Amino acid sequence: MSIKERDVALAAVREAAVLCRNIQAAIGPDVLEKKDRSPVTVADFGSQALICRRLAEAFPDDPIMAEEDSTALREPAQAALLARVVAEVQRLVPEATTETVCAWIDRGNLAAYRPRFWAVDPIDGTKGFLRGDQYAIALALIVEGQVQVAALACPNLSFMPEAETSRGVVFMAVRGEGTWAWPLEEAGEPVRIRVSATHDPAQALFCESFESAHSAHDVAAEVARRLGITKPSRRLDSQAKYALVARGEADLYLRLPTRPGYVEKVWDHAAGALIVAEAGGRVTDIHGRPLRFDRGPVLSENRGVVVSNGRLHEAVLEAIAAVGVA
Ligand code: AMP
Ligand code: MG
Repeated sequence: MSIKERDVALAAVREAAVLCRNIQAAIGPDVLEKKDRSPVTVADFGSQALICRRLAEAFPDDPIMAEEDSTALREPAQAALLARVVAEVQRLVPEATTETVCAWIDRGNLAAYRPRFWAVDPIDGTKGFLRGDQYAIALALIVEGQVQVAALACPNLSFMPEAETSRGVVFMAVRGEGTWAWPLEEAGEPVRIRVSATHDPAQALFCESFESAHSAHDVAAEVARRLGITKPSRRLDSQAKYALVARGEADLYLRLPTRPGYVEKVWDHAAGALIVAEAGGRVTDIHGRPLRFDRGPVLSENRGVVVSNGRLHEAVLEAIAAVGVA
């Protein structure tokens, strides 16, 4: 894969992260009290506009599968919201107009599989974004059903595990070339990251969604008990969970189905999956099947997601089967 795809993807998520940060920084207690979701809506659309703009300029023929569409945003009742989106985009791209912003957002309207397409989650972990916790900007290039390039910006995750300073990190993976991390706002040399060497399941640290509606915490606790795990799980939003496994800060990420009909979305997993695989880890569904990114916007052939450092994978799948997750 060419250096151009990698560089464009990296620049796109970095720029989108600046917009998201600007908006998250302005969220005050009043927003939470009023349960006002508009900051995340503005950031979602703004982030998608910036990413699609860069992709459209560099790869005008590439279709983009993104989470948001601008139909609702164009309604007269949403004029104030649209104005906020445009204003936030203009802070980074001064020449942006209402029309160009909507057109950029609409470039992300791919709704079916293509042999080559980009998958975008402009803000993954919207609930974390509103709480002031973890969220991510995720971008993946999928060719013939395989993720070839992945960029993942995590504005509230430290560059170095456990470090209090240097908040913000961006991860990049290219198939066959490994996974790398940079501080979010600095260029310079990246560091290569690798999964942990943990081989005893009982010693494992696992992470899962903060939201119990997105991953069954009670079932995960049962699986953990079977494996002899005693450490409490780390709960956080977004594909930052994939990043923790990729750099060995966690050994596992369990995403166990909460309800019968839910199917996982391509943009929630494509970037994270390559970031972990290229760091030496393994990603499957709860039945051990590889994630299928060639079925359209949803992972219709898969159920839940299991991410590990590789060594622990079979033991975890066995424990899940024994607990009887369906
Ligand atoms: P997380 O940050 O791990 O909680 O995951 C956030 C993602 O969960 C969102 O982007 C949604 O697409 C997705 N989601 C929404 N409902 C569910 C559900 N019932 N099960 C699993 N994932 C869900
Ligand atoms: Mg998401």
